Amino acid sequence: MQTSPIIVYLLVLDLVSRIKRLDSTTSAQESTPSSCPRCGSSHTVKNSHIHNGKPKHLCKNCGRQYTINPIKSEVSSETKQLINKLLLERISLKGITRVTGVSWSWLQNYVNDKLSQIPRQIKVQLNQKGN
Ligand SMILES: [Zn+2]
Repeated sequence: MQTSPIIVYLLVLDLVSRIKRLDSTTSAQESTPSSCPRCGSSHTVKNSHIHNGKPKHLCKNCGRQYTINPIKSEVSSETKQLINKLLLERISLKGITRVTGVSWSWLQNYVNDKLSQIPRQIKVQLNQKGN
């Protein structure tokens, strides 16, 4: 199956419009009290500062250290949804990193996680072919 560049273009446009909508609501999110990005616990303490002066927080529940508004933000669920679609289109992983802006190492981990979640489906398909 050939992938149409137009489909990729439309997906990117869709993603950009979603991100723009998110931007308009970020100011409200900044005022929320800090909670752990890993376990969601609000049992956190300020734990000195990182190099650019932002306060660093430490989760007392799971031990994770984090900043409230990290410069290197985590990949959004919208981006993950786009990547899921791109993976189905069999676009190269390098191509996906260029389109979505995620890092190469992040995408490798993400794909490995995905693959580890679907061994049963592959087995079923193999059995059907064998018959
Ligand atoms: Zn935690």
